[in-house]
Amino acid sequence: MGSFDHIVIGAGSAGCAVAARLSEDPDRRVLLIEAGGSDRRLEARAPAGFPGLFHTKRDWDYRTEPEPGCAGRRLYHPRGRLVGGCSAMNAQLWVRGSDRDYDGWGIPGWGWEDVLPYFLRIEDHFLDDAAHGRGGPIKVRRIDTPDPTTAHFVRSAVAAGIPETQDLSGPELEGVQFSATNTYRGRRWSAARGYLDPARRRRNLTVVTDTLVRRIVLREGRAVGVEVERRGTVERHDARGDIVLSAGAFNTPHLLQISGIGPAEHLAEIGVDLAVDSPAVGAHLTEHPMTFVNWELRAPWLGLSDAESPRQLLRWVLRGRGKLCSNVGESLAHVRTEEGLEAPDMQLVNGPVFFWQHGEGEHAKPAMMVGQSYWTPKSRGHVLARSADPTQKPAVQLNLLTEPDDVAAMMRGVRLTRRIAEHAPLRDVIAAEITPGPDVQTDAELERWVRETCEHTYHPACTARIGEPGEGVVDPELRVHGVAGLRVADASVLPRITRANTHAPATLVGERCAAFIRGHDAIPGARSGRSAIATP
Ligand SMILES: Cc1cc2nc3c(=O)[nH]c(=O)nc-3n(C[C@H](O)[C@H](O)[C@H](O)COP(=O)(O)OP(=O)(O)OC[C@H]3O[C@@H](n4cnc5c(N)ncnc54)[C@H](O)[C@@H]3O)c2cc1C
Repeated sequence: MGSFDHIVIGAGSAGCAVAARLSEDPDRRVLLIEAGGSDRRLEARAPAGFPGLFHTKRDWDYRTEPEPGCAGRRLYHPRGRLVGGCSAMNAQLWVRGSDRDYDGWGIPGWGWEDVLPYFLRIEDHFLDDAAHGRGGPIKVRRIDTPDPTTAHFVRSAVAAGIPETQDLSGPELEGVQFSATNTYRGRRWSAARGYLDPARRRRNLTVVTDTLVRRIVLREGRAVGVEVERRGTVERHDARGDIVLSAGAFNTPHLLQISGIGPAEHLAEIGVDLAVDSPAVGAHLTEHPMTFVNWELRAPWLGLSDAESPRQLLRWVLRGRGKLCSNVGESLAHVRTEEGLEAPDMQLVNGPVFFWQHGEGEHAKPAMMVGQSYWTPKSRGHVLARSADPTQKPAVQLNLLTEPDDVAAMMRGVRLTRRIAEHAPLRDVIAAEITPGPDVQTDAELERWVRETCEHTYHPACTARIGEPGEGVVDPELRVHGVAGLRVADASVLPRITRANTHAPATLVGERCAAFIRGHDAIPGARSGRSAIATP
């Protein structure tokens, strides 16, 4: 395969952006390594098809440790194991976040005014104004034909006092509207579509799939290469310049740990030789908890119950039309669940479908749902390697709802959702509430229901966050403390989780990483003078 200047590990939201932007410079030879396979599948291409990827070989198929805040349940956590990563399996919602998120991090060079030019460069947005980008690699569109019940939800939310807005992407966020999505002409527009497809013809970019990075090779304090496994054969690739780790919020800290970069005590326990004592690797894991209110629909409403019928399949294949074009989360309401908050703290996700247990739950009749995704949780978890074996998945502990405030927020979200459904026109299309159901009314009943049924929003983050050595894993230019030649670029580096679905922030991080490496961007004083890490 030859020699490379850069190796990018993981072709997900961020990794595709890093590899594509680095390889724009013809003098840089870039190797992008992806553990999974092609995204040429109906489930990845048809917007509504993504739950069909769950539990397949294109899913890392995580399950958390028993969650103490969630009645001891182990929560299923899908992660895309294919070209495009989670952007090839997500619900395609495009939300950048609040300016309060970026400004609130307090990280030099990462305030809203610093990141906005990158969002403008990333986007090809349907809103034609100075606050949104045009002509960038990532298309943002509304779906062509939302289900009629979606308009009902929007109108009822307005009737309940939620303002209608045109722009749900941020920085203001507040309001209700049809979703802004990464779909285009009825098809998913993933990071692979936007970044990788146009770059693949470049002679200086090599993309290898079905290849697992087993560890990062360190020599004298520098990352010099990666050990990979492909079809049972282990080999090594070296890089002259920076190696970029973009393996996602579970696999990035895992790879760091099994490469010797992590909490010293834990690495000793699992028999990994310590290279760099970095306690924050795998710590601070944050997720948006999510509950689901489902209602049965009155006749003749069908929602997406017939989306997989031969007729709809044919419409999608032939013309990119029909119900398979739905991203499922067809409209959003961004709300404050308490007065006085500086920004909305919850996203209500509305879809014309019964959604329960990641799409595995069934209801015999057509239904619709509104999910409550809490944006500012206090609960924190961790990711810890179980052994030095790169094929053994790490332990993931979300610790969802271990902070009482988070439970209270979920309860407020469910009650607010019920209030919206009391308003016409939604009221008139709903036959009955399925979940939580009429028996769940008192605070005690609702808290129990929340703990017994709460899931997450598929948004793990912060496990290799930007921060000072000890507190964080990377500096503001995403260089790993204590190791030369190694950066992290993915949702792991978020210092605190955004009031946003995490694909847009991850893409932002990828764009910035490439700009830092190419010298197109620099944050004064970013490199911490201190090395993290004094180890033998
Ligand atoms: C079902 C679902 C729905 C979601 N819905 C939305 C949504 O609507 N909107 C939104 O904004 N966000 C959504 N998200 C979250 C969002 O997609 C992710 O946060 C984002 O894509 C993460 O980007 P990333 O670059 O951090 O990691 P990923 O996109 O996960 O990329 C990591 C890549 O690294 C590869 N990799 C991992 N380990 C290795 C290894 N050892 N060797 C080689 N390759 C490796 C993986 O296979 C993967 O391709 C959803 C996620 C899921 C799963």
